[in-house]
Amino acid sequence: MTPEPPPTRPFVLISAAMSVDGHIDDTSPERLLLSCAEDFDRVDALRAECDAILVGAGTLRADDPRLEVRGAARREARVARGLPEHLLKVVLAGHGGLSAELRLWHSGGPKLVLAPDAAVPGLRAELGALAEVVGTGVELDPARALDALAARGVRRLMVEGGGAIQSLFLTAGLVDEIQLAVAPFFVGEAAAPRFAPAVGKPFPQDAAHRMTLLGAEPLGDMVVLRYAARRADASRVTAADLGWMRVAIDLSRQCPPSESAYSVGAVVVAADGTEIARGFSRESGDDKVHAEESALGKIDLADPRLRTATIYSTLEPCSVRASRPSPCAELIRSAGIGRVVLAWREPALFVADCQGVELLEQSGATVVETPTLAEEARAVNAHLV
Ligand SMILES: [Zn+2]
Repeated sequence: MTPEPPPTRPFVLISAAMSVDGHIDDTSPERLLLSCAEDFDRVDALRAECDAILVGAGTLRADDPRLEVRGAARREARVARGLPEHLLKVVLAGHGGLSAELRLWHSGGPKLVLAPDAAVPGLRAELGALAEVVGTGVELDPARALDALAARGVRRLMVEGGGAIQSLFLTAGLVDEIQLAVAPFFVGEAAAPRFAPAVGKPFPQDAAHRMTLLGAEPLGDMVVLRYAARRADASRVTAADLGWMRVAIDLSRQCPPSESAYSVGAVVVAADGTEIARGFSRESGDDKVHAEESALGKIDLADPRLRTATIYSTLEPCSVRASRPSPCAELIRSAGIGRVVLAWREPALFVADCQGVELLEQSGATVVETPTLAEEARAVNAHLV
């Protein structure tokens, strides 16, 4: 039985539209329409692919949104895929004062309000059975909010705003991707709300840590920019990492025996915790194939999830190969995978000095080791070392 990894924090996607001068609204009481028809449709399709949608209480009070997937065909397609028709609707509230009359509470799907512990009793009194209210500790803690969502099975979260909520998640280093649609006009009001305004905390995505541009596509009269925001917790080993590494170690035990090569397992996992592919050494009778090579060989390299995916390998990926044109470190780099987790560094047995980690780090990847599982990964190769 392959062990099941624990739930990971959801993949966090910030979706926003802004004017050329960086505003997400103007100062008038009505909501400013930034998106063109094509962009509204794109955002609706994006919503339909998520498990939950989150807004701040300010946006909820100002815009009174329902946060629905508007396309009936998209809702039906969700049901056909075994998903609920409606997303889990999440509100982050710094304090009480949410009217029971807001349209969200009377729209489809479950509602969850996350707030500092002190605000919880007041919100429960205001909302009654309209929403579940959960505390995030002394403060409005975005990491605890994500843990609460993970526990409810949320794998993909769409954060729709407003600005303070965008900054809260971005400065905490908890965002995987930003989709920013730029409208071809100026707002020109200094007091108008901005995209991700300054909140007195540094952004980890600063000039020294530039984000990766995933795409720039014209849409109607707008352009949609997509960035991988690279989470600040990428170099930390999580419980989910250990769970996936155990899956990889389990795979390494399935390798056909060899006296001249290591037994290695590898798994490629998307940022939302979905497995993309797995492989092991000498899989399907090819006595030259490496685990990472086998897993990567099963992947469509155009899969957009690869840029934010993690590859788990029980052994440091190789940097030199006699039997193939590209070593595994090079294959991982070519696939665009930015995070590599390994259990055990290659000893100088078959290769004098493996440079896999160095090669990957030079190409900008984050390499993480799981020392607590090194012995378990090595033990599979006990007859060699
Ligand atoms: Zn290799």
